[in-house]
Amino acid sequence: MSGVQQPGLFDAPQRLFSCTPSRLGSYEDCPRRYRFTYVDRPQPPKGPPWAHNSLGASVHTALKNWYGTPAERRGPELLPKLLRATWVSEGYRDQEQEREAYRRALAWLETYVDGLDPEDDPVGVERTVATKTATLALSGRVDRIDRRGDDLVIVDYKTGRSELDGDDARGSRALALYAIAAQRTFRRRCVRVELHHLPTGTVAAHEHTEESLARHLRRAEATAADAVAAERALADGVAPDEAFPAVPSPRCGWCDFRRVCPEGSAAWPAKEPWAALEGRADGPVGAPSGASGPGGAATTVAGGVDEAGGRAAGAGVPGAQRRPADG
Ligand code: SF4
Repeated sequence: MSGVQQPGLFDAPQRLFSCTPSRLGSYEDCPRRYRFTYVDRPQPPKGPPWAHNSLGASVHTALKNWYGTPAERRGPELLPKLLRATWVSEGYRDQEQEREAYRRALAWLETYVDGLDPEDDPVGVERTVATKTATLALSGRVDRIDRRGDDLVIVDYKTGRSELDGDDARGSRALALYAIAAQRTFRRRCVRVELHHLPTGTVAAHEHTEESLARHLRRAEATAADAVAAERALADGVAPDEAFPAVPSPRCGWCDFRRVCPEGSAAWPAKEPWAALEGRADGPVGAPSGASGPGGAATTVAGGVDEAGGRAAGAGVPGAQRRPADG
């Protein structure tokens, strides 16, 4: 046998870029914010916590724990206890606003679980799914994965102000990537994605094709390549602000890092931490839609809320499509 190595035979394999849909979405929205979130260490100081994130996290955790309760004990009477147990108090203007948010959240949950079969156990609740491509190691945490017939369905809870439609479900890169990852994790077909909007009790759904999923994956890989190139440029000495340009937009009003971003803070006024819970029925433009996952939740405090019911529609995070919290 010849001792001559074939060229490239033992080349190091290409390192995969580990990411979540949230990370990719962050780069697509604003490379500067991506740098602050994922590259700069120590991380620049963030602004104060947001009430809409607290509300979203509280609702998500209550639903997670509802499914974590034995089926025979799942019922509406359980909801106040679950919601209070992991309620996140941060970011609200005052106790009155927080109490109102609690009442709304409880009403959403009561309506929502009323439409669920308590005997129905999903395939996954806040389940991490993962997959690899030639360049990516993708992972993410899905709010819920249902089994319907032979197929899996991705379910993402939304607590934002705006009702969502099929275009939101179709266009969500995160949901498509979750479907791909769930398909590969469970070795079962998964093409349907759903946004369950709790404030209105509506479901926005889309059935992907293999081609539309592949298209989302190609775009994710392209975004990852851009992010990797920017990180390389930074390592090669390019100025940080040049490698990761700021992209001011209405999102700057809600950006955790606006205090360290002159471009963004000059372009858009800051929002109060509770602003997403107030205002017009359709909410201010450009608000984040991050109240969709437990990511970002900090302390949980059960005080400051009561168990009074009362339904009031329209609370939550304005804006349409979120990038799901990591996860
Ligand atoms: S303030 Fe705006 S431009 Fe600056 S990092 Fe945040 S989103 Fe980007």
